[in-house]
Amino acid sequence: MPDLDPPLVPARMLNEFVYCPRLAILEWVDGEFAPNADTVEGAVRHASVDRPGYRVRLRQRTPSDDPGADQPARAPIEQIRSVELSDAGLGLIAKIDLVEIDRDRVQPVDTKKGKRPHVERGAYEPERVQVCAQGLLLRSHGYPCDSGILYFAGSNERVEVPFDDELVALTRSKLGELREAAGAGVLPPPLVDSPKCVRCSLAPICLPDETRFLRDAGSPPRQLLPAADHTFPLYVQQPGATVRKDGDLLVVFDKDEKLGEMRIREVSQLVLMGRVSATEAVYRELLRLGKPIVHLSSGGWLAGVTDGLPHANVRLRQEQYRTADDAAKCLRIARWIVVSKLTNQRVLLRRNGGDEIPESTIEGIRHAAQAAQRAETIDTLRGHEGNGGRLYFGHFAALLRQSPFRERFDLEGRNRRPPRDPVNGLLSFAYSMLSREWVTTCRTVGLDPFLGFYHAPRYGRPSLALDLMEAFRPICADSTVVRAINNGEIGPTDFVERMGSVNLTDGGRRKFLRSFEQRLAQEVVHPVFGYRLSYRRVFEVEARLLSRYLLGEIPTYEPMTTR
Ligand code: SF4
Repeated sequence: MPDLDPPLVPARMLNEFVYCPRLAILEWVDGEFAPNADTVEGAVRHASVDRPGYRVRLRQRTPSDDPGADQPARAPIEQIRSVELSDAGLGLIAKIDLVEIDRDRVQPVDTKKGKRPHVERGAYEPERVQVCAQGLLLRSHGYPCDSGILYFAGSNERVEVPFDDELVALTRSKLGELREAAGAGVLPPPLVDSPKCVRCSLAPICLPDETRFLRDAGSPPRQLLPAADHTFPLYVQQPGATVRKDGDLLVVFDKDEKLGEMRIREVSQLVLMGRVSATEAVYRELLRLGKPIVHLSSGGWLAGVTDGLPHANVRLRQEQYRTADDAAKCLRIARWIVVSKLTNQRVLLRRNGGDEIPESTIEGIRHAAQAAQRAETIDTLRGHEGNGGRLYFGHFAALLRQSPFRERFDLEGRNRRPPRDPVNGLLSFAYSMLSREWVTTCRTVGLDPFLGFYHAPRYGRPSLALDLMEAFRPICADSTVVRAINNGEIGPTDFVERMGSVNLTDGGRRKFLRSFEQRLAQEVVHPVFGYRLSYRRVFEVEARLLSRYLLGEIPTYEPMTTR
């Protein structure tokens, strides 16, 4: 459908486009943003220049200023701050940091946070194009404007940029290219092995080297993303507790008693479990910062998520919906998911079960994975998953070293709704926490967590989150349960049994959440990329790689398997 009212291109995006076309489309069309040290510092510096204002400054005349004319030694220059201009004919919009008017000479001044680069023409092309776009806007509003200024705050230097024919032509041609790329609905390819990516704040989202590696092989990717997050979920589960905002803190109260606090900048999401509330100020602040508020039942069932506007990457969701309607593609993705899950189950049993696990069991799971690889229908695939799962849980008790957990699980096997023994109670809770984590990860990258490819859509079921967590059930949920029991972090007194159902106590849940968070923060060497990442980071990378697959950038989506 043609866009009858195409959006105006911000001059800032033209700068990004000249730097890297993919960067501009990720930011402008897909709505991606990720702060890094450079963007934060830039925002701080810009906060002062973004304040509207007007003043007249006296500047010392130089001999080049109209020599011979009978002029006073100091010339007044009008300065207008934060000027927003747009022009539908040009298709451009800009907020100009400063416009200087010196008699009949008008110049846009654009502030850059760094030092002046010592390059031919005084500045890099993206910045020159950006200030030229601002000049074109001034011209289109009737101001004579034949040059602009780049002010480098880091070295307190001004560089004059003449708007010669060459620069004007380049600016207009880049503007056309950007509009075309934005309208094409295709993400431009990543730069290849470019030093620009090292400084790019969107590298963890763009995954330039990983995309290239999965598409064309070649040298392993550079690690352009941080190994771990520095933010964590804040879980609140004390019945009747309220979360309040106090300056830059979230503070948890039970009536007037303070239970704890956490800096907002260290919170990745607020998880409210059961009868817990938060004040309006908390909602407003977290929504402003794009941090979700997750509502769970006291037992960990997902009741809802409060977050801001949906992710701007509509194109990705369209591809997700198209793929979900394509049975052959769904089967392909489902095979990768099941094979990875069975592989990780086999590895967990083999690594931790020792001699107690018969080789026939390990081989049986391997065969189930091989058969899953060839499954021709989703039903057959489910059959192979079930066969492997029965072998896995049939020997799961061998991983447990503590009584009475092991004996009771041995008798009961895997059961749920309600869980009838402590291990099953823990597994159910662990899977709930894992699916919650995947729901928020899907939303972060712009996927719809409720429409999957393997799990059929069902009202209220986060099918895609369930798909994506399959490979991680053994290595993030089951392994946490095993470790929490074997290390004595969780004991028999951490459970309550009511009418045949076994669940964690509040204290038990608190202890288990600690173990679960430790597991997600644990760094592992990524088996394909070869660098270290926390499991939580791995989740985000996986979800982004699925997005790349759906958008046709990489040929497969194969979830992580451990060796
Ligand atoms: S990481 Fe590299 S390829 Fe990706 S947007 Fe940034 S500069 Fe462009």
